[in-house]
Amino acid sequence: METLAQFRGEIIRPGDETYDSARKVYNAMIDKRPAIIARCVDVADVIAAVKYGRENQMLTAIRGGGHNGGGLGVCDDGLVIDLSRMKGVRVDPVARTAQVAGGCVWGDVDHATHAFGMAVPSGFISTTGVAGLTLGGGIGYLTRACGLTIDNLLSADVVLADGTFVSASEKANPDLFWALRGGGGNFGVVTSFLFSLHPVKMVYAGPTFWPLEQAAEAMKAYRDFILKAPERMNGFFAFLTIPPAPMFPAELHLKKVCGIMWCCNAPADQAEAAIRPMRSVGKPVLDHVGEMPFPVVQSLFDALYPAGLQWYWRADFVKELSDKAIALYVEHGSASPTPHSTMHLYPIDGQVHRVGKSETAFSYRDANFAEVIVGVDPDPANKDKITQWCKDYFDALHPYSAGGAYVNFMMEEGQERIQAAFRDNYARLATVKKKYDPGNFFRVNQNIRPA
Ligand SMILES: Cc1cc2nc3c(=O)[nH]c(=O)nc-3n(C[C@H](O)[C@H](O)[C@H](O)COP(=O)(O)OP(=O)(O)OC[C@H]3O[C@@H](n4cnc5c(N)ncnc54)[C@H](O)[C@@H]3O)c2cc1C
Repeated sequence: METLAQFRGEIIRPGDETYDSARKVYNAMIDKRPAIIARCVDVADVIAAVKYGRENQMLTAIRGGGHNGGGLGVCDDGLVIDLSRMKGVRVDPVARTAQVAGGCVWGDVDHATHAFGMAVPSGFISTTGVAGLTLGGGIGYLTRACGLTIDNLLSADVVLADGTFVSASEKANPDLFWALRGGGGNFGVVTSFLFSLHPVKMVYAGPTFWPLEQAAEAMKAYRDFILKAPERMNGFFAFLTIPPAPMFPAELHLKKVCGIMWCCNAPADQAEAAIRPMRSVGKPVLDHVGEMPFPVVQSLFDALYPAGLQWYWRADFVKELSDKAIALYVEHGSASPTPHSTMHLYPIDGQVHRVGKSETAFSYRDANFAEVIVGVDPDPANKDKITQWCKDYFDALHPYSAGGAYVNFMMEEGQERIQAAFRDNYARLATVKKKYDPGNFFRVNQNIRPA
């Protein structure tokens, strides 16, 4: 019987001083109590933990950054294989690659790569885990120009359900590599990722906000603008409440608005010229776009969304934004129940569309936007309010969506929604799952059932 006697990291159990902080995840709505948290420091620890979980038939969760909306990095009564101590990024400036340990968050990667004037395409916030975000796809500021995060993944090191260690790439275990690119944490514990890098140093970024009365006009203009804009241009559309932060004029604090959060990886004069048409739409109440280092834009939301808030998530992919759908976006976006609650619409055209629907597990290559609606608030007393708003918003817009959602923006929503997220790729994922994890050991995730 496998024991954890040789384990070099930390073993944390109920009653230990650090237990309560170690079991907490980013979303405070999730309150799970694992039996063991195994904080690994190396691959040998991960192998030992997987074997231990398996031989003791424990429900086993894998924790990367702990950001998952549905709390899929933790479980009740079982084992948590926690990679948060497995950090380290090695940049190879000649090969233009970054080797990233499985417990890094994106801020670790941005810090390491920015020194070389490069970046890995990731998300919109620096505190998210590299592992979970990558395995679901990875949508962010560089998506239109450089593709999803998985489109920049060259290889991954994986500890499988039987404790064996393999590498996956186009050449080694290509079926596993295909499944890892969008299929989530279903296939094993990824201990290291090799990404390709892109030249990104200073970007032209920041928000343009419009009053809600101009929201329909601004959203229609955004729809007509963004999909035709140069691919180095990115900007996501949002309904939000302006935070009471010193960077915003006091008269705008806590005002509900809509807006675009820009990030253009081009020289400032070219970027400015490219977004100029949007600046003359209606009368923006704030236009705060300028040149900044890429890691600054990546971390602009960090302080606004610290760990420990209540989050309720719903999402869908969107192909077309009809005028009718826009009217509903405006109606529900304007009714947000708390200052942190928001709706974002991320463009996923450009480079994402150049990869075929079945070339990776990520299926929605034909969608133009990934929509996410989040009811968020620090106060647990507002849980029902944020949940109901989020559900109503989603229900109103779902008929106008492409049918399924980005797995990383889902909570636990059942098999039907999981299958809708993968569409035609689900059957192939189930076959790969059967080969690499026939007993469904890794099932604390958006679960693919073995064929
Ligand atoms: C504030 C916030 C902002 C976000 N912004 C973006 C964004 O801009 N773009 C985007 O694409 N997504 C974004 N997301 C969604 C994010 O991608 C998911 O929440 C993702 O699951 C987080 O990964 P994690 O490693 O932090 O999560 P965890 O909770 O640690 O894990 C999530 C899932 O990934 C699996 N997993 C984790 N680590 C490993 C591993 N090493 N090997 C195998 N499986 C593993 C787990 O099994 C679990 O199912 C955001 C989330 C939040 C909360």
